[in-house]
Amino acid sequence: MIEPKKIVKSRRKTIALVIDSDGELIVRAPFYASNHDIMRFVQEKQDWIEQKSEEMKLKKQERPKLALQDGETIPYLGRECMIFRGMTKKIYFDGKAFLLPETQDADTKLVTWYKKRAAVILQERVETIAKNMQVVPEGVKITSAKTRWGSCSGTNHINFSWRLIMCPPEVVDYVVVHELCHILHKNHSRSFWESVERVDASYREHEKWLKDNRRIMEILE
Ligand SMILES: [Zn+2]
Repeated sequence: MIEPKKIVKSRRKTIALVIDSDGELIVRAPFYASNHDIMRFVQEKQDWIEQKSEEMKLKKQERPKLALQDGETIPYLGRECMIFRGMTKKIYFDGKAFLLPETQDADTKLVTWYKKRAAVILQERVETIAKNMQVVPEGVKITSAKTRWGSCSGTNHINFSWRLIMCPPEVVDYVVVHELCHILHKNHSRSFWESVERVDASYREHEKWLKDNRRIMEILE
């Protein structure tokens, strides 16, 4: 249950609920309202409060689309990397910053760069983790999905969005573990999550990271 962060009493006649920009609940109430009355009201409106709070939190993490201008940053393996535009045809990356061409097609080139890196990194992570888990995937494909980080087909073909490599390495590994566990369980049953936990004891944290940061899927077309 979401409890009030602050209760503000004034000469008003009714209780009102406000969700602030952090998704926290502020209650405005008349002077004569008892704590009991206030808490009962908050309890009754819990569905609305939770929904609104979730909306405000999402709004807060909204990340605008990248214009790929000098000084903007883009995440690569969890690290915010600076973008520079300059006289170059190719993309240069030194582990901390990108040098992108000044031409109009810099975005397409950058996506191609990410896709290639994603293919190399995810192929390697799948091989290593699958071996350790003793499962055999049919193959790995890189997609441009914006709604899911990864998926596993009924025939054990694994797909990952290239956008996944914007996430920190431990989160990348979690998604790999998650999809490989779908080879064993084609659902999100309890046994599925138990298999995930055996390989990634911090999976809840990683799942939360993805939920809190899903807007990074939208920063590039
Ligand atoms: Zn799943």
